[in-house]
Amino acid sequence: MKRPKTAGERKARIDEILRRLDKMYPNATCALHHRNPWELLVATILSAQCTDKRVNEVTPGLFQKYPTPRDFAAVAPEVLAQDIRSTGFFNNKAKSIAGAAKRIVSDFGGQVPRTLEKMLTIPGAARKTANVVLGTAYGIPSGVVVDTHVQRIAARLDLTKETDPVKIERDLMKIIPQDRWIRFSHQIILHGRALCIARKPKCAECDLNSLCYAKDKTA
Ligand code: SF4
Repeated sequence: MKRPKTAGERKARIDEILRRLDKMYPNATCALHHRNPWELLVATILSAQCTDKRVNEVTPGLFQKYPTPRDFAAVAPEVLAQDIRSTGFFNNKAKSIAGAAKRIVSDFGGQVPRTLEKMLTIPGAARKTANVVLGTAYGIPSGVVVDTHVQRIAARLDLTKETDPVKIERDLMKIIPQDRWIRFSHQIILHGRALCIARKPKCAECDLNSLCYAKDKTA
């Protein structure tokens, strides 16, 4: 396959990738159920090393028991850990959620803040989580969500040569227009679940095939 050589060819290829992603995943959005930014923050912390499906099973009861950040701030992490046990890594997650609740209550008046800088002061909210919450709950394009799917697919599509998530994100922010950051993140995560899976990607079914020169393509 002919690789783009000039800046113009590279840009045209990115534009075409974005156009095809829109056709493949027109309604891509976050799969974690939530009713407000706080609930999305909790769900995103719970989703580490856990399926969205499992998180969605746990959160309705959790938010019924603890309806607001103040309720989470008041509960001992050891107690909260038992409520979220089935999501795995529950002790660490409970500490993060309780710490996040305390910070949001004490420093942000009980509201999840709207800037990346402030988000990054919250326990349990690193760049990936902060970008998920700001993008999905507030519609603020603060960055590109770089999870395991985005890491893998950005490499396969030759959008970065980096392996560190922060550097991958920096590369993606340079080549993807900012008004596409939120949608692009959702689309790539869906693509990673549906077709561009870790082992044996389903390249024969992938509309990006003619633009992709990944070494581990299967068709
Ligand atoms: S062609 Fe294959 S490796 Fe390339 S993006 Fe599609 S599924 Fe992934």
